[in-house]
Amino acid sequence: MKPPPVKYARAGDVQEAIALLTEHGSDAKVLAGGQSLIPLMNFRLARPSILIDINRVRELDYVREDNGTLAIGAMTRQRDVETSSVAAASVPLLPEVLRHVGHITNRNRGTVGGSLAHADPAAELPALVTGLGGELVVQGPNGVRTIPAEDFFMSTFTTALEPDEVLIGVRLPRLPGGTGVAVEELARRHGDFAIVAAMAAVHLAPDRSVDLVRLAVSGVDSVPVRLHAAEDALTGGRPSAEAIEAAAATVADAIHPADDVHAPASYRRDMAQLLVKRVAKAALERSETKS
Ligand code: FAD
Repeated sequence: MKPPPVKYARAGDVQEAIALLTEHGSDAKVLAGGQSLIPLMNFRLARPSILIDINRVRELDYVREDNGTLAIGAMTRQRDVETSSVAAASVPLLPEVLRHVGHITNRNRGTVGGSLAHADPAAELPALVTGLGGELVVQGPNGVRTIPAEDFFMSTFTTALEPDEVLIGVRLPRLPGGTGVAVEELARRHGDFAIVAAMAAVHLAPDRSVDLVRLAVSGVDSVPVRLHAAEDALTGGRPSAEAIEAAAATVADAIHPADDVHAPASYRRDMAQLLVKRVAKAALERSETKS
């Protein structure tokens, strides 16, 4: 299918993109990698009156360390982050997670900002940013504001972005050296969106007790979910099978899966619990070999 007729404008910088969004109102859509927006238009599920192409906004294409955080520009291609040594050193969960996003061809075009602004509840990057307590940086006519991930993702395909705002970047806290990470997904085929995905980052203190745990799941709620209670259940003690069981037992209360054509809610709930156990165990084992 082909998209319906649509006007097109190319922004040279962020200010120009904001001016175009302000001029055209909520009928306008930012065009980033087009990997979600163009299929939606082809299926007539999105009908913007005008596309505002930000692919030439070079200032939004970067991966850099900044004051204890990893800063990524919204127009950075997913594949560039996946292969970035700076990203791998700061947040080793990122390349692990990105390998599960579609196919390499999608990641060559798809942007970090596009995935976050699109806010698909099954997507991996929103779950990673939520799980690590990241912040989204947005810019509009009134300037720049920073939004914690847990406030940015509001519901399915719905974020705290205003119609005249552009997502300009994301900041992730750097993970301490020796952090073990793991990602597990249930998907029907390689490259498909996950039915359920889980991810973990775990760090051990010098006395081998667990001093940092980050756990997140996607595909089991209208937004990505950080599993605070499960993190608390694992933090402070020595790694153990009992602690992992206790953490997994908190998962069902933290998520609100829905029935759909892919899986009933009860199955998603069971899978979330199982995958959380697996990623917690794998991340703990990897942190033990690294410390
Ligand atoms: P676009 O499609 O250009 O835009 C998406 C939406 O975000 C639009 O509404 C657009 O207006 C808005 N937007 C984009 N950038 C900004 C910005 N800077 N500021 C404000 N609004 C903005 N994703 C996964 O997470 N996991 C998968 O397994 C997966 N599998 C896929 C498989 C296939 C075959 C395909 C085609 C896509 C898949 N995707 C998957 C989606 C892919 O990750 C997309 O790249 C991503 O969701 C959107 O990024 P984009 O840069 O292409 O954004």
